[in-house]
Amino acid sequence: MTSLHEKLHDIYDEVAQRNPGETEFHQAVYEVLTSLGPVVAKHPEYADNAVIHRLCEPERQIIFRVPWVDDSGAVQINRGFRVEFNSALGPYKGGLRFHPSVYLGIVKFLGFEQIFKNSLTGLPIGGGKGGSDFDPKGRSPQEVMRFCQSFMTELYRHIGEYTDVPAGDIGVGTREIGYLFGQYKRITNRWEAGVFTGKGLTWGGSQVRTEATGYGTVFFVDEILRAAGDSFDGKRVVVSGSGNVAVYAIEKVQALGGIVVACSDSGGYIVDDKGIDLDLVKEIKEVRRGRIDEYADARGNGARFVAKQSVWEVPCDIALPCATQNELTGSDAGALIESGCRIVAEGANMPCTPDAVKYFSEAGVTFAPGKAANAGGVATSALEMQQNASRDSWTFEETEARLAEIMGRIHHTCLSTADEYGQPGNYAAGANIAGFIRVADAMLALGLV
Ligand code: NDP
Repeated sequence: MTSLHEKLHDIYDEVAQRNPGETEFHQAVYEVLTSLGPVVAKHPEYADNAVIHRLCEPERQIIFRVPWVDDSGAVQINRGFRVEFNSALGPYKGGLRFHPSVYLGIVKFLGFEQIFKNSLTGLPIGGGKGGSDFDPKGRSPQEVMRFCQSFMTELYRHIGEYTDVPAGDIGVGTREIGYLFGQYKRITNRWEAGVFTGKGLTWGGSQVRTEATGYGTVFFVDEILRAAGDSFDGKRVVVSGSGNVAVYAIEKVQALGGIVVACSDSGGYIVDDKGIDLDLVKEIKEVRRGRIDEYADARGNGARFVAKQSVWEVPCDIALPCATQNELTGSDAGALIESGCRIVAEGANMPCTPDAVKYFSEAGVTFAPGKAANAGGVATSALEMQQNASRDSWTFEETEARLAEIMGRIHHTCLSTADEYGQPGNYAAGANIAGFIRVADAMLALGLV
């Protein structure tokens, strides 16, 4: 582990001690604190006013019971979470995750990351995150709907256009957002579009929101390539996952001339040296809600499925981890470096372990952290909120152009901030410091609240 500035050491120890067992949260806090040494040295007021201390303690944490009845008539009990982390810059903003691995430590890590990511977009959004340990896999549409309705029957009292604005994440797509928004509308008797983002296009959603996280990640990599006088043209790209972020990352890489040769799900990965047939992936994942292993048979051109192995063993120039946290380990990083990979950009949140990030840095591989590289999703959510507030809707082209411009701005901010704090080319340091300064200045201005 990188060592921490002395003023930050005590803060980290206290976080670890007050939040026992929440390992992902500890990891996320440590990662940000490792970047803040030069900031505290230059501006001791941030440490002296307990701003960093306060940033590590959520403003509010809500945990609730979610009872529902499955198709066999049996009662199921899940646990729901919403962590409202920081509202200095705007209403809490961050997605809901439905996955059996969800517990308070995951929600807090995601909420903590969200503060800095949202700050980095330059838009008026605070940080929050939520979800449940509900597993939507294998559940009927009716079960998913009953679960969502029960979840919202508690959550509705905590959210609102000016308070807390959830969106999707793993296991929560447009279908789930529809059920959640429908129940919110029913309970409150308000057609309050701005309470949720990621809505369908006919009921208050924004063009490009579905595509935004994946597209934004690829726009960010395109900025990196262009800064080096290069392009996606002919590059071999590996993408992990085959969900929302992965699918639209693949789509944009292909549009820019790259060749995506592999993608995955939690069962294994597919390799297709001729380039992934994205229509087939969409048909399997979005229409049939099937497994990625169905791809190889359906494609039948030499494409193969490899069960239970890491997708990072496939050689590539550019790696885009778009599945889940800590999915790319130190040994995966070693394999990527060996195969000649030059750029790694996180479409998912914290997919690279600290070891992996360290190896990339030592090997001179350009590493773009999720806070910057996947910020296009939440940025487009903020654009959805703007359209809802003005009862307007923009075209696909206009919205995509705004997304590309925001990603360009974030790229520039990361590089210029890293330069200013003596770490040229270090995107992770640039993202953490720039995200921190904007939110910390707002917290100082708002007093001890
Ligand atoms: P989805 O649920 O749409 O897709 C997740 C994908 O990752 C699925 O293909 C899933 O496979 C796969 N996956 C999950 N766990 C593993 C694993 N252990 N190994 C391999 N594959 C795995 O989620 P999203 O695409 O929305 O989210 C992906 C990541 O991006 C998350 O980290 C999320 O926090 C982050 N993110 C998402 C944003 C968004 O707008 N959606 C915004 C910013 C970040 P399977 O079906 O087998 O579980």
